[in-house]
Amino acid sequence: MVTIRQKLVSEAQAKKVTYGKINKRKKVVVHGTDNYRTGADADAHGRLQYNGNSRSASWHWTVDSKEAVQSFNHVWACWAAGTDKGNQEGIHVETCVNPDGDYKKTLQNAAALIAKILKDEKLTINDVVQHNYYSGKNCPREIRSGNIPWNEFLKMIQNAGSTQVPKPSTDNKRYRVLTGTFSTRQAVENVLDVLKHRFGWICYIEQDGKLWRVKTGTFVGMAAAQAGANKIRTAKLAQVTYVVGE
Ligand SMILES: [Zn+2]
Repeated sequence: MVTIRQKLVSEAQAKKVTYGKINKRKKVVVHGTDNYRTGADADAHGRLQYNGNSRSASWHWTVDSKEAVQSFNHVWACWAAGTDKGNQEGIHVETCVNPDGDYKKTLQNAAALIAKILKDEKLTINDVVQHNYYSGKNCPREIRSGNIPWNEFLKMIQNAGSTQVPKPSTDNKRYRVLTGTFSTRQAVENVLDVLKHRFGWICYIEQDGKLWRVKTGTFVGMAAAQAGANKIRTAKLAQVTYVVGE
């Protein structure tokens, strides 16, 4: 849970510091304010934008350890990414690093806010990027330096709930799993027996020169085939497995 407050910049001011209402809203872009002064919290950054930021810069949200302040509706293409692409497709979230705030709580709040934005905008966790993604800038600096690493922050967003799961795989190709070779007919039949009767799979024995191997029926999708191959190795039925297209 994060407290959300709007302090929206006026239309007239917004037109001076954005590309207008053309934001494609495809990504959520995470920033750090780099402002290490005491009191440089979400309210201060929200006021700065509301009162007419003298810099040619703008962003949608500022989050600290107490709240999230919104300065622009997401339709505005803010100037925050350092590239036109990032400015015209990003929803920009600044995370505060003020020393009088609680940095971990700030990131928890940012995670909760971003989870909400993903849901509202029908985006997924794969659409969350760093400012660095667009321009190479070292931003968000704290996260990039490992003070709560990026992967952990992404997990925090997922745990904040209400994010949509990534789209399921659309890999409909068929694959089979082959085991490595066995030197005796008896050995390969033992493996075949387990795969057929314990795993419930359709399987065949293939001769390979003087050796034998097991070939499975088809799996739909590479992920399913790899899981099947893992299952064979985990059960120590074969040391080596191969996934092949049908
Ligand atoms: Zn940034």
